[in-house]
Amino acid sequence: SASLKNGHLREGQENSREVEVAAATAGTEPEKKIKVLVCARCHSLRHYGHVKRPDAEVLLPDFDFVATVGPRLASPLGARSLVLLLADASDFDGSFPRAVARLVAVANEAHQANWELGAPANLPRAVLVVTKLDLLPTPSLSPDDVQAWAQSRARAGAGADLQLAGVHLVSAARGWGVRDLLHHVRELAGPRGKVWAVGARNVGKSTLLNAIARCSGAEGGQTLTEAPVPGTTLGVIRVDGVLGAQAKLFDTPGLLHGHQLTSRLTLEEQKLVQVRKEMRPRTYRLKVGQSIHMGGLARLDVDDLTVGSIYVTVWASPLLPLHMGKTENAASMMKDHFGLQLQPPIGQKRVSELGKWVRKKFKVSGDSWDKNTMDIAISGLGWYGIGLKGEAVLGLWTYDGVDVVPRSSLV
Ligand code: GDP
Repeated sequence: SASLKNGHLREGQENSREVEVAAATAGTEPEKKIKVLVCARCHSLRHYGHVKRPDAEVLLPDFDFVATVGPRLASPLGARSLVLLLADASDFDGSFPRAVARLVAVANEAHQANWELGAPANLPRAVLVVTKLDLLPTPSLSPDDVQAWAQSRARAGAGADLQLAGVHLVSAARGWGVRDLLHHVRELAGPRGKVWAVGARNVGKSTLLNAIARCSGAEGGQTLTEAPVPGTTLGVIRVDGVLGAQAKLFDTPGLLHGHQLTSRLTLEEQKLVQVRKEMRPRTYRLKVGQSIHMGGLARLDVDDLTVGSIYVTVWASPLLPLHMGKTENAASMMKDHFGLQLQPPIGQKRVSELGKWVRKKFKVSGDSWDKNTMDIAISGLGWYGIGLKGEAVLGLWTYDGVDVVPRSSLV
């Protein structure tokens, strides 16, 4: 029979979304099934950041973690907090929750500056979790290099001296690194800690938490239940049974990053941009006066070179059409082909809806063609890897407000 508590549908209601977690218990015990029931509204909130209705999709405002959870993090009296900062391997800089990372970094910096005063030792700690590792060309990468790279990108994102209690590379889809992460989180949280999972929408948080729950269930964890946390109207959810009896795990709503291009695309357009399988490089050799388009979403121009040519490798969804041509024809490409042959955007009308088309200039120097010197990443889209022996002046075009990040090369 239907019972409604705290606005959340309870077990047995047809509107609830059921996630079954099969947990193989140790020894000869028969397989135990753990059921997690989340109402359709919660499920939509957690997975898509908005409530799905048959007639319309209601977009909810961004979740302000800093304002909502921030004050609870550095509380001198409460149990110690651990923040899991999730970042998507295929869009690290765009998805990294930098405002939350900064909050943790600044709280700790302030403590260090005041240590003589005996400031509280109950400061929040952070663990960096790089999700969807299976999307990177893993055979050609060393985990140590990816870890060091991720750590330095996290520091750059926080814009402060972020001290991390750990860096974990995981793939919930493949089950890579999930057990290690669970053990480390349990150890760091201790018996009474509070753990907050934070990440941009679509970073893979739900998939990861489900994988962690499955892993914990397999190790004899308790029945998994979820409960809304009072005072957080936008659905912070407590996940019980993963960390032990007293420690608490909180799942927070996905953050909306306006600087990620995906945040302004329609669901249909997002499908063309989101990376679902291991990324494959597409490499071009370019001379001065040539450009490469990534759909109708970004363009790289080679303005000047001290050498004959450079190699540009595009790392992005294979569904995204690329076009190489002369820079002098680029303006007519935009007018005639954006929204049509060059999608997304889907439809020419969408071009102006995505915003103003703006350019940033980069100077790059390098000493190798085989190894990329630098990446120019476009948040929520992908990146151009640049390989050159000499110096180059490059122009990068995309829509105003989308982050363009020059960074040391990942691959
Ligand atoms: P959330 O919005 O952060 O909760 O993200 P979800 O868990 O709903 O995942 C967003 C998308 O990423 C979905 O299409 C998932 O199938 C996909 N995804 C999640 N984890 C992984 C992973 O480890 N590898 C790959 N390749 N895809 C993943």
